[in-house]
Amino acid sequence: MIRRVWERMGEFLFPSRAVCLNCGDPSGLEEEWLCARCRARLKPGVHAVQSDEWPEDGVSRAWFALYYEEPIARLIRAFKYDGVYRLAPFFISCMRSLLATIRSEGFDCVVPVPLHEKRLRERGFNQAEVMAAFISQETGIPLRDVLRRTRNTKRQARLPVTSRRENVHGAFTCACRLSGLKVLLVDDVFTTGSTANSCAKALRLAGARDAQALTLAGSRRYRRSKDRIYRKNAASNSSKP
Ligand SMILES: [Zn+2]
Repeated sequence: MIRRVWERMGEFLFPSRAVCLNCGDPSGLEEEWLCARCRARLKPGVHAVQSDEWPEDGVSRAWFALYYEEPIARLIRAFKYDGVYRLAPFFISCMRSLLATIRSEGFDCVVPVPLHEKRLRERGFNQAEVMAAFISQETGIPLRDVLRRTRNTKRQARLPVTSRRENVHGAFTCACRLSGLKVLLVDDVFTTGSTANSCAKALRLAGARDAQALTLAGSRRYRRSKDRIYRKNAASNSSKP
């Protein structure tokens, strides 16, 4: 029911694909969602980063296709807060070369970052779950919805960077054993890594041998060279036939 309402609201706010979702340009709409000019600003790639700032029991690597900036940031907000589900296949198309690399990394399962039940009722869907389902389908890696959010945490985007780790500390539990598994954690955006690292801790406590994050977009902070130590490897992997 709630999902339907959101869907309708999404249809109302974004009634057709006749205008660019980023700039509103009604002419020259080349792709489904963006005009040619906005589309040209998207440069999807294979980004794999690591940071000394993440805890040892956090994610070992974060993968993403785009930097979190316009126009993709606007599309992610429309997807998440306005219920524009139909954007999901477009997002997956932006992740195509990244997913080709992911397929060769030997992950055992794809796990979405969960929403708290209360937030899920309000929003009607979990954007990470939608993304994870598509990613599982695209890569053939099984989907396992095993994480639970035990506390209804504040929205990370509204908090200063310094409070984010505390906000999600101990907020997740894993519903079953994942002994020896290499887990790919899926969300829409990777910023400080606090949410992903808190999830990774729960996955490791459940026996996972490794946890890495996969998102559509990642913070621009990871443009810094020291955080991109895996980028070269990722690029060489993706160029394999
Ligand atoms: Zn545009």
